[in-house]
Amino acid sequence: MLNIVLFGPPGAGKGTQSKLIVDKFNLIHLSTGDLLRAEIKAGTELGLKAKHLIDAGKLVPDEVVIGMISHKLDNDKAEGFIFDGFPRTKEQAKALDHLLEEYNDSISAMISLKVPEEELINRLLERGKESGRADDQSESVIKDRLHVYRDQTEVVKEYYAGQGKAIELDGLGSVEQVFDRIKNAIEKA
Ligand code: AMP
Repeated sequence: MLNIVLFGPPGAGKGTQSKLIVDKFNLIHLSTGDLLRAEIKAGTELGLKAKHLIDAGKLVPDEVVIGMISHKLDNDKAEGFIFDGFPRTKEQAKALDHLLEEYNDSISAMISLKVPEEELINRLLERGKESGRADDQSESVIKDRLHVYRDQTEVVKEYYAGQGKAIELDGLGSVEQVFDRIKNAIEKA
């Protein structure tokens, strides 16, 4: 199986690139952000609890997102998965390794997209005009999300570097240029 973690700060292009990777490599896209927004839309109890955290740019508790991913791994059958926006903490990364171990499987590579902070803020504000996402509308919430990324999420890169699986790529350029870099990296991995 080909299991890829697509990593990077909010606005790095993970969602856009995931769609292209899924088409090319026949993987299932698992985005915890998308799954949480679907819960909110459906008005579930989980969605209601998560909404205020998401709107404030904070992380949803580890056990909630780990539970959602575990459910997906149990039920979706694929040639592999692309994890987008997960893991976002070291605990989530460890939990993912354990979940995959249950299927005698593992992460093949972590691909991290590097984009300067100013560009991230511009991209997110631009996306907010169309996405309607509350967390993309305000510069202060965007800055909080970037702070959470630096504070709690960036360590995940070291976790995979320790396993020799971390690949960092330039996330600047056109969607096609970035996808070309990712495609080459996956083919090498
Ligand atoms: P995203 O669509 O990946 O930008 O995620 C939007 C929001 O959902 C994040 O700002 C968090 O509030 C929440 N979220 C998504 N994935 C996770 C995760 N793996 N761990 C904790 N919170 C998450």
